[in-house]
Amino acid sequence: AFDENGKIWFNGNFVDWKDANLHVLSHVVHYGTSVFEGIRCYDTKNGPAVFRLQDHIKRLINSGKIYRMEIPYSVEDLSQAVLDTIKINQLKECYIRPVAFRGYGELGVYPLNCPVETVVAAWAWGKYLGEEAIENGVNIGTSSWRRMAPGTMPNMAKAGSNYMNSQLAKMESIANGYDEAIMLDYQGMVSEGSGENIFVVLDGAIYTPPISSSLLSGLTRDSVIKIAQKLSLEVREENIPREMLYIADEVFLTGTAAEVTPVRSIDKIIIGNGTRGAVTKKIQENFFSLVNGEEEDEHGWLSYV
Ligand code: PMP
Repeated sequence: AFDENGKIWFNGNFVDWKDANLHVLSHVVHYGTSVFEGIRCYDTKNGPAVFRLQDHIKRLINSGKIYRMEIPYSVEDLSQAVLDTIKINQLKECYIRPVAFRGYGELGVYPLNCPVETVVAAWAWGKYLGEEAIENGVNIGTSSWRRMAPGTMPNMAKAGSNYMNSQLAKMESIANGYDEAIMLDYQGMVSEGSGENIFVVLDGAIYTPPISSSLLSGLTRDSVIKIAQKLSLEVREENIPREMLYIADEVFLTGTAAEVTPVRSIDKIIIGNGTRGAVTKKIQENFFSLVNGEEEDEHGWLSYV
């Protein structure tokens, strides 16, 4: 939940929550000219720690680069801004939202004459798909909306505008009684959720769609691939036909917000035995013990506040 007495980092300074405003004629309001990140901080026994902070900030800067939006701060500056935002708001477990956008200048489509503004906000946020979803899983539906085809919108940029596509899929899935949507790519292969990547366990192997399936290269996806490797489980980045989901032994979603969430059913077809599978559980346990600082941080993924 938002803490309206909190502070927000705005172009290098902290401002009061209520003063973190922008003009209605800002470029971003009209054309979606923004790039952002979603980052989680966990309350470990050694104090609050941010998961994969530098990697998130690098992705933010790269998302900007794709859109010729140069963010006027370094990885170090913005990483420090994230830590400072957590500290000043006295947060422990929280979600952090850095965002860079084109502000107030002129209102043609051409964005480069509008200033780049950079913001970091943080607030306490629980389980994205609900507390019990982590254990019991979610029911998802295949969206009639596809991910953006190559050469239309850059799927690899975490840009605000891409989330109009995600919103269409998410709204449709909720209207149809599902918890979340899964989208196909332009070729009809499985791509990703509205805010999560997807993994499939079938006959002892783990599959996830490749970057070429129009997805966001998730950092949780990357973490799970590395966790699986450590557990001597093979992850294959391969095209996944829709029907492979239905016959999977297990399916799970990954994302900063969703963490590692099992999938119980897809298009009302029960996956496996309809409960969290053994592989999903093992990966979940390893993921949570890593982010919670309960095991050695061999990758250097935790930044303590
Ligand atoms: N795909 C989409 C569309 C997303 O919004 C997210 C969340 N950022 C992900 C995948 C997962 O990415 P990450 O694990 O880096 O949060």
